[in-house]
Amino acid sequence: MLIQVENLIAACFDPSEVETHHDFDPRRHPLLGRNGPDLSDPKTDLDLCVDLMVEYQDADATIAEVLLDQRVMRGIGNVFRCELLWTCELHPWAKVSSLNRDECRELVSIAAEMLQSRHMSHDRTLAVYGRHGKECERCTGQVRVTHHGEANRVLYWCADCQIRHAGTSSSRYVTEHDTPPGVHPAEFIYLSELERARKSG
Ligand SMILES: [Zn+2]
Repeated sequence: MLIQVENLIAACFDPSEVETHHDFDPRRHPLLGRNGPDLSDPKTDLDLCVDLMVEYQDADATIAEVLLDQRVMRGIGNVFRCELLWTCELHPWAKVSSLNRDECRELVSIAAEMLQSRHMSHDRTLAVYGRHGKECERCTGQVRVTHHGEANRVLYWCADCQIRHAGTSSSRYVTEHDTPPGVHPAEFIYLSELERARKSG
């Protein structure tokens, strides 16, 4: 693998792991904090993961953010995050501090079980991810896609049945940035950024 920047080429032979990041996001970078337990490993300590969630320092952090925080748990990617929140009927913007210990344990156990059983294999139909504008299979509401967090990741969810802890929604995120049905999320982000640049310029 080669990393090339101005005046410098760095070569790395046989890297055991390569990570790429679209945007700089300190929450996702394991070198900036201790790695949390890997939920895809059957020997992992789920209690430690529950402790890290219960003791999470940022009181305003949403559960959607914490699921991707590598210092709390590893193994959950963006697709899985959306599916997990839907499975647990959790509002994505619910504050992590609103979940009690039993609820954190339930979430972590379901995540570990799904990851370890390869429940999220390619042949499984996804409940929400990539399905914006389509009908939710649980409540017949409409699946939405919103952009969430520093890196503006897409977050698919059902506003009609993912209502657990909805009342504690962090004020940090609002849902006005939904991609309209029929528009590709990437196109929507691109056009929104263009619009913002035009307004500020
Ligand atoms: Zn639903």
